[in-house]
Amino acid sequence: MAVLTSEAVVLRTWPVHEADLIVSFFTRDYGKVRGVAKSALKSRKRFGGALEPMTQARAWFAERPRQELVRLDQLEIVRSPLSTPVDQARLTVLSFFAEVLDEALPDHDPQETVFRLLVSVLDQTTVEQPWVPLTYFSLWMTRLMGLLPDVAHCTACGEALVAGEVSFNTQGDGLFCAVHRNGSASALSADSWQLAQRMLRAPASAFAAEAWPRRRGQDLRRFTWAALERHLERKLRSAEALGRLGG
Ligand SMILES: [Zn+2]
Repeated sequence: MAVLTSEAVVLRTWPVHEADLIVSFFTRDYGKVRGVAKSALKSRKRFGGALEPMTQARAWFAERPRQELVRLDQLEIVRSPLSTPVDQARLTVLSFFAEVLDEALPDHDPQETVFRLLVSVLDQTTVEQPWVPLTYFSLWMTRLMGLLPDVAHCTACGEALVAGEVSFNTQGDGLFCAVHRNGSASALSADSWQLAQRMLRAPASAFAAEAWPRRRGQDLRRFTWAALERHLERKLRSAEALGRLGG
């Protein structure tokens, strides 16, 4: 049984049996993997704080014949989300990343671009500035999953969209011009529409110096979350929690 190793980010854990944990983790080389961490609850030493969701670590694990779950042997922390200050907003943003990735990523399918996106937004997610990385991740995950329409043109007629006249429907795909605006549509503000176009061309770090009150980009986040939820066919619990925080 070969032991594999990869850079990884811990997504979620569930207790199973007496002291074992099932760990969902996103590896750079093998994609999302689920494994059993034997006695993880009993022997804290082996995994230490590495099982905290959104911990960046080096993982060692072994595939087991005819078993869906791998055997997770070791996680060596590269960077813990708890090594920098936390508050409710930052923790909820981190759980949003974990929930979306755990739900959306296929098992055992390497997703290098998504992995790089995740590492870049983790670097940016601070107590001072949680909303930029949240917006950036939401927009890019929507695009990488093939759910983002052309942001520059109306989905119905193909005409160039105009700032301040763009709308979307939470029930269906697309961005629409003033002519094709549906009665129940929500507006995508000029700032959010321009942000979306800029974010598709620049790294997350390029936006950190701008003023980001929590409402900035809220409509853009709602637009992307609606697309993700339609695709996943379920509500994202952490998105609701973010909504309660005013994000
Ligand atoms: Zn149109």
